[in-house]
Amino acid sequence: MRLSLAAPVTAAGVLALLPLDALAHLRPRSCDGHELLIPRQTDSLDPTAQCQYYNYQPVQDIKAKYPTIWTTATIQGSDTEAQTLFSQINATIQQKAGSVVIKPASTAGYSYDRSDPDCWWTWQGCTKPADSIGVAADLIDVPEPHTLGLTIDDGPNCSQNALYEYLREQKQRATMFFIGSNIFGWPVQAIQAHKDGHEICVHTWSHQPMTTLTNEQAFAELYYTRKAIKDIIGVTPKCWRPPQGDVDNRIRLIAAGLNLTTIIWNLETDDWRAQAVNSTVSEADVDNNYQKIVDQGKNNFTTHGGVVLTHQSTNYTMSTLLKWLPQLKSAWTHVVPLASAYNWTQPYVETDVTYPDFNAYISGSTSSSSSSSSSSTAPSSSTTGSGAGANAVSASGSGSATGTASAAASTTSRSAALRTPDLDLRHIAPASLLLGIMYALL
Ligand SMILES: [Zn+2]
Repeated sequence: MRLSLAAPVTAAGVLALLPLDALAHLRPRSCDGHELLIPRQTDSLDPTAQCQYYNYQPVQDIKAKYPTIWTTATIQGSDTEAQTLFSQINATIQQKAGSVVIKPASTAGYSYDRSDPDCWWTWQGCTKPADSIGVAADLIDVPEPHTLGLTIDDGPNCSQNALYEYLREQKQRATMFFIGSNIFGWPVQAIQAHKDGHEICVHTWSHQPMTTLTNEQAFAELYYTRKAIKDIIGVTPKCWRPPQGDVDNRIRLIAAGLNLTTIIWNLETDDWRAQAVNSTVSEADVDNNYQKIVDQGKNNFTTHGGVVLTHQSTNYTMSTLLKWLPQLKSAWTHVVPLASAYNWTQPYVETDVTYPDFNAYISGSTSSSSSSSSSSTAPSSSTTGSGAGANAVSASGSGSATGTASAAASTTSRSAALRTPDLDLRHIAPASLLLGIMYALL
């Protein structure tokens, strides 16, 4: 179902369109306040039902202080906190990485020093900046052997219920790299991810190649996504992943200034490519990639573990992950979220939100001090309650969205000589347009 600009939908009309079970979950479930934090839009596994657009008042209350979704983020005029922090970070960049140039949107004909002075991941997979830069190396694997770090990018997605239900049943947590614009588009789904115990990290505001942005834009892409996660979900992440893995020393310094650890990957499914425009990757290729990762779990990684890159950008990528997860869990001794893999027991700035370390996680202890427990009756911390997610959901919005209304593209092959950012932007455009229209109507 597509949004009809010619026929505005009233609040009552939307309510009439919503399935009954959706309305049931939009109402608070209990009087203790905890359930108010974790409303579910619907339990339906039907993508159309899940992707009925809804109005979420906490987003309406704060959106004027944020960049417009699916546009390149910039510091908002009255945001003195952002301006002050950016000034500090910008000074550090001038001092330590002043020679790093902004990369062009198209690398055709672009001349770059083959010694890779910027430690540009896209160029040749550099993940360890020189000591003089003063930032830690990117994380690309996990320390424990035979262990798979499960990461899922580009969410939240409106039609994520089937995947999340399976993860919940399996008591399987993952690290979710969320796009700020998608959090504003599907805030209840974002809250659900945290409630289910998944680790939440930053994946930028509008999902663009970060090395092509100015210092201020790159800062704002991270700053406002981190802020959105705090405002909507209630926690402040300390990790991020660059779209396409596109990062250099300039961008690393900006991330470090925001207390964000840069995380890449070392196992790639290429799932997003199978349905990409002009893609040469077929669904069979993606299955082959998954099979290789299964085989590697059985035969390789004897000294350390892997980090697999998957996406929740489309129903295809989510269903393919769901299809392969049983085999991944069978082949690898442990499949874990990154926070547990790295023993980050306090993965957020809010120190009262804790996470199981590696031993606790693999022993089945997935409880924590926050709402991140897999149990729906677990007590919630005051940290979570401080976010906008503490407010109840109301269903008074208009329009609708498709199951693919989140950014689709991410990553380029590490072996690629140069990235092709134009490819990435092609995938973003339709979702950007759709959500941009909906946003403007709110
Ligand atoms: Zn991505």
